[in-house]
Amino acid sequence: MNANLFARFLEAAPADRGEPLLERPGRPPLSWRDMLEASGRIATLLRERGLQPGDRVTVQVAKSAEAVWLYLACLRGGFVFHPLNEAYQPAELAFLLQDAAPALAVCDPAREALFRELAPADCQVLCLAADGSGSLMEEAARHDPDTGVVQRQPGDLAALLYTSGTTGRPKGAMISHGNLAANAAALVAAWGFTRTDRLLHALPIYHAHGLFVGLGCVLMSGARLLFLERFAPDAVLDALPRATVMMGVPTYYSRLLQQPGFDRDACAHMRLFISGSAPLLPETFASFRQRSGHAILERYGMTETGMNTSNPLHGERKAGSVGPPLPGVELRIADADDRPLPAGAIGEIQLRGANVFAGYWGLPEKTAEAFTADGFFRSGDQGTIDAGGYVSIIGRSKDLVISGYPREVEILLDALPGVAESAVIGAPHPDLGEAVIAVIVASGDGAPAEQAIIAALKRQLAGFKVPKRVFMVTELPRNAMGKVEKAVLRKRHEHAFN
Ligand code: AMP
Repeated sequence: MNANLFARFLEAAPADRGEPLLERPGRPPLSWRDMLEASGRIATLLRERGLQPGDRVTVQVAKSAEAVWLYLACLRGGFVFHPLNEAYQPAELAFLLQDAAPALAVCDPAREALFRELAPADCQVLCLAADGSGSLMEEAARHDPDTGVVQRQPGDLAALLYTSGTTGRPKGAMISHGNLAANAAALVAAWGFTRTDRLLHALPIYHAHGLFVGLGCVLMSGARLLFLERFAPDAVLDALPRATVMMGVPTYYSRLLQQPGFDRDACAHMRLFISGSAPLLPETFASFRQRSGHAILERYGMTETGMNTSNPLHGERKAGSVGPPLPGVELRIADADDRPLPAGAIGEIQLRGANVFAGYWGLPEKTAEAFTADGFFRSGDQGTIDAGGYVSIIGRSKDLVISGYPREVEILLDALPGVAESAVIGAPHPDLGEAVIAVIVASGDGAPAEQAIIAALKRQLAGFKVPKRVFMVTELPRNAMGKVEKAVLRKRHEHAFN
């Protein structure tokens, strides 16, 4: 049997290859046949340019159908897809191109000279523009579409995705065909994907969420993509009546709630809204349910592991929880010595299963540190499991403040009247070394005064956990995946106490 993920996608594809696979607003749909031909031509081109299975292909391009075909061409040719955030600047690109040592880089035509300068000497460079033009597709058009699917073992690499690395240098997570196939199959089953589904896809495809979870669920179930180049509330509202499922980061859902036209009618054909990559506020969950009639399904995953837990398709979806572990994923809460803790205790979330990556590219020591003696991956996330088996995330260990778990304080802050959302961080303090501060976004009715917030928290928390200062802002800094950038906040508030 061929463990190539692309072979699994072909098994799920509709027998009629003329069926639409990818729809874009105002343009004719692209079929499964279009995908097969284009990805075949690109795979042949790459092979004829001398690429061998296992070679990396570094890609920094705009989201487009052609970019998806390039990803699929890499899978079927056995090349390792290495996508980059479009926002990366020359210094970041220089590091990533040298570290991944690709045989080919594909970039926007405007960056061709830069890529030629920064890439290793033996790396070829091709171009792909946002509209699909450029040397990649021009050359591919002259190549044979009937390329077959290269034989792969489950452990062979399919992709290299660098973790955002808020501390230290980014690390390349080596993700295998087996990892992706196991996770996509688990998600198709957990979320009930079938050929009749239409996934509203507005996420970027350089990140695991849009690339593996979004595309994976569609290609593994023979469903269809409603493909938007980016999240724009108007375009999402236009596409929703044709969609059955949407995936997003929490900010997508809070922004949809700001649209007057977002209501039950707009969601008439929707069966599921899925959220992840950052915590979904219980208030967003509640407002969304009230406005749309839908309980957003929150799940939890990461680049290194794919998806680990999910609230259920059928059954209770708990606000503030990411649900029980998915079938095939072993999850435990462990203490600092990697000993499993009982239900209710807070500790590090550790993971084992076919979804867990093979290690960090070129970093055997970091890989060894990342796993326990009995083979569990140390996620760096702090969490707890309740008696019903539902997991909640309390925070990132690297965001820990000395006096406790920021998330615990954030949850209480968010529940205060006048507070829309909050972030809790540690700031250098002349006496204490570090002291807790809170950064708050007020809700419409205006936030309470700093002293009122501190007094309210003192009634609910041990004194050492209560923020010493509260700062009001209009907006929290977030990255493209909706994660609050705590490192940015720490920098902004480094002089809070001196
Ligand atoms: P990334 O590797 O960029 O996907 O980031 C993974 C990290 O995002 C995880 O380790 C968590 O800290 C965070 N994360 C993902 N999903 C959730 C969620 N539903 N709630 C809270 N944090 C999440």
